[in-house]
Amino acid sequence: MYEMRAEFDPDVTGSVENATNSLALLWHVIAKDDSGMALCGQQLVQTVHAGLLVGGHASTERCCSPCLAAVRATMQAEAV
Ligand SMILES: [Zn+2]
Repeated sequence: MYEMRAEFDPDVTGSVENATNSLALLWHVIAKDDSGMALCGQQLVQTVHAGLLVGGHASTERCCSPCLAAVRATMQAEAV
């Protein structure tokens, strides 16, 4: 029901135009029944093409903390 989506990390990459030089990825979590809205509330408009991810071109990757916190909170709520 959850899905990981990578975006170009705006903090590292700067802009999408520079993204081919130094790929930095930020992994968000989206709910599949939602239309591209990450759990942190960010609308994901430019999702990184899966081919780039498979090729291992990303120089740095990190996960979106607010998204992970939302997943954790949801799981704990369901476990109770
Ligand atoms: Zn996020």
